[in-house]
Amino acid sequence: MAQIIDGKAISAKIREEIKEETARFVAQRGYAPGLAVIIVGEDPASTVYVRNKGRACEEVGFYSEIHRLPENTQQSELEELIDRLNGDDKIHGILVQLPLPKHLDESAVLLKIDPAKDVDGFYPFNVGRIMIGDFDIAPCTPYGVMELLRYSGIETRGKHCVIVGRSNIVGKPQAMLMLKADATVTVCHSKTQNLAEICRTADILVAAIGKADFIGADYVKEGAVVVDVGINRKADGKLTGDVNFAQVEPKASFITPVPGGVGPMTITILMKNTLKAAEVAGDALGAF
Ligand code: NDP
Repeated sequence: MAQIIDGKAISAKIREEIKEETARFVAQRGYAPGLAVIIVGEDPASTVYVRNKGRACEEVGFYSEIHRLPENTQQSELEELIDRLNGDDKIHGILVQLPLPKHLDESAVLLKIDPAKDVDGFYPFNVGRIMIGDFDIAPCTPYGVMELLRYSGIETRGKHCVIVGRSNIVGKPQAMLMLKADATVTVCHSKTQNLAEICRTADILVAAIGKADFIGADYVKEGAVVVDVGINRKADGKLTGDVNFAQVEPKASFITPVPGGVGPMTITILMKNTLKAAEVAGDALGAF
């Protein structure tokens, strides 16, 4: 039977640490780290995520602004808002909630964000820094996975980590973070041949596919650590991961559940990234 990696409990512990660090930051510098979140339109899932981000800021003692823009917002209006936030000293992190309505050019919008305020870690400059292993901010979900492993006492050095999924927000940065943590890394995707066979060689298996219950018992080596990034909604409305939990749990040594595994870490790491961005900005000011 596997040990369940409790993402909620680990997340709560990290938030407590961030809260303490934030109190020290405020006492030393006289201002709080600030996060601005922009949401365009009224996508229900995005609205919930944005509300949760606002609450998380409040919980750890950040200054936060939520900019709710109407569905018909023009590219130029959104870019002007980002420009204004780039120049606002109270704001250390800017997050544009994705997906944006179809008429907006998402990559052009993301390129407007000052890389020093890119707390999602999506700006190409920051992606490059992840690639060379010298970074202040890492994308929230893959960094959250690394923190789950660290808090669970799971060694990555010398371990074979197989990642299923090669997206820019999960699979690829996950591979870079695993390499930095001295794992031997294999990245798989939809064109990979003999996927189950490759997955069975994993000491640590990370599933970031977006297909409900895709990873069954035949994909998992006895005693492997299994991390399920997937969030899929079933016909009955319930959330499920990319891993067939009932099949895999008896074989794994550690496993993350869905919900309650990787999910809770993402916003927590966003808070960590915002604090880091505020510290870096403050240090840069101090250097002059
Ligand atoms: P993408 O759709 O961008 O990427 C999915 C990846 O899975 C692609 O690389 C794709 O391969 C690969 N894939 C698809 N089908 C197969 C298959 N049959 N065999 C092998 N590989 C396959 O998704 P994301 O990376 O954005 O997200 C992945 C999952 O993680 C989703 O369920 C998403 O909801 C969840 N997620 C959860 C977060 C959290 O906070 N917990 C945050 C972000 C995402 P190819 O490149 O060849 O198409």
